Amino acid sequence: MKQDIFNYDAVSLAQKLIRFDTTNGVNPEKDCIMFIKNILDEAGMETWLISHDEARPNLFAKLKAKNPDPNIPPFVMYGHIDVVPTEDQVWDKDPFAGIIEDGYLWGRGAIDMKGEHGMMLEALLKIIEETKEGKIDLPFDIYYIAVSDEEGTSDYGMKYLVENHHEQFEGMKYAIGEIGGFSLKIMGKKLYPIQIGEKQVAEIKITAKGEGGHASMKHSGTAMERLAEAIAKLSKERLPVRIAPSVRYMMEEMSRSFGGVIGFGIKLLLKPSLTDKLLALLGTAGNLFDPLLHNSLNVTVVGGGSAVNVIPSNVWCKCDLRMVPECTMDEAITDIKSLIGSDFEIEILNYDEGMAGVDLKLYESMAAAIKKADPNGYPVPFVLQAVTDARFLARAGVQSYGFTPMDLPDDYDFTDLSHNANERVPVSALKFGAKVIYEYINDGYANNFIK
Ligand SMILES: [Zn+2]
Repeated sequence: MKQDIFNYDAVSLAQKLIRFDTTNGVNPEKDCIMFIKNILDEAGMETWLISHDEARPNLFAKLKAKNPDPNIPPFVMYGHIDVVPTEDQVWDKDPFAGIIEDGYLWGRGAIDMKGEHGMMLEALLKIIEETKEGKIDLPFDIYYIAVSDEEGTSDYGMKYLVENHHEQFEGMKYAIGEIGGFSLKIMGKKLYPIQIGEKQVAEIKITAKGEGGHASMKHSGTAMERLAEAIAKLSKERLPVRIAPSVRYMMEEMSRSFGGVIGFGIKLLLKPSLTDKLLALLGTAGNLFDPLLHNSLNVTVVGGGSAVNVIPSNVWCKCDLRMVPECTMDEAITDIKSLIGSDFEIEILNYDEGMAGVDLKLYESMAAAIKKADPNGYPVPFVLQAVTDARFLARAGVQSYGFTPMDLPDDYDFTDLSHNANERVPVSALKFGAKVIYEYINDGYANNFIK
């Protein structure tokens, strides 16, 4: 008789996962993670937990190859189990009930990212079942990793694991996770962006120093004045154009997919002397590209001075700095100084360094898997302007790809529903993704390593 767990599919799994309220900072992830662990234990996988806090564990599961090929690194799938809050949002349906209606599965996490876990787990269970039945014999190990705390700081999740349990990632080179592989209709083309990289995030402090004095006299050139001028510049103007190799690759591929005038326009954006002029012409249509073609920063905290009648000699601001992939901190500071001048002290308060270079080895095979599943789609490489746990995995030497394929209706807006009220996912998209991931593991991944 077929074991019950093998009757699970992406939809029923995602539905069950949504019913665990794992709101970051409110409810711990443990129950939801244990639910998955029990299924994978029963399926016969080796599983273990690694936790910074027992209530917020991280799950590792491994399916060992019977006849491993030493040239093929393990296949890794990973994702977070926590979700963002629903507080102050008006939902048409209970966000934790996992309701299926009119072809949609509703709930917090439907697309970020319990739906994706459902897809990965269906693919995994199918591989396990077929391996047991002797139908397939994959020559590489498979890992599934479910982590806590991505929507927070990852201090209990991936960041903790990479910083404290580096050995867990030994031998891993490539992984799939959120965000990418879902269809997006842009200017009439059905694109499937596959994430190959993401921006890097840092916090910096800029300090202006100057002569102090008594406020009864009018002073000029003070620290306050110079910092105010710097803040005005940083707020109104862009940092210089900086084209990262991965962004160049993304835009060249997009240009090829579009062809014609649009394709030509996308390519012109890569000419630094034209970039900002073209972005100005594009208006909101350029919003997709603008953050990928510059480092950017926002001044978010300002401080200095202690008494109203004293001119402060030390005034500072803290900034959220977003750097394009492959850019170094030195280069980012050079960009900032080119705008505000070098007469400031710049301190790095926090920096999650991204990958030094993007490894595109798996990209073509992933694009082919999507193209096979949807011949009308155009897979394109894509760099995310936000950040995910991929940045921590990069530090462990693992290149992540955002590859959780979904064939979505034209009027469905992934980015609009993520983190928002009425988050929902088409049931058909989950089935599509599970199938593409299964096929990719079964007949796609290994081909990248066969010479
Ligand atoms: Zn997410």
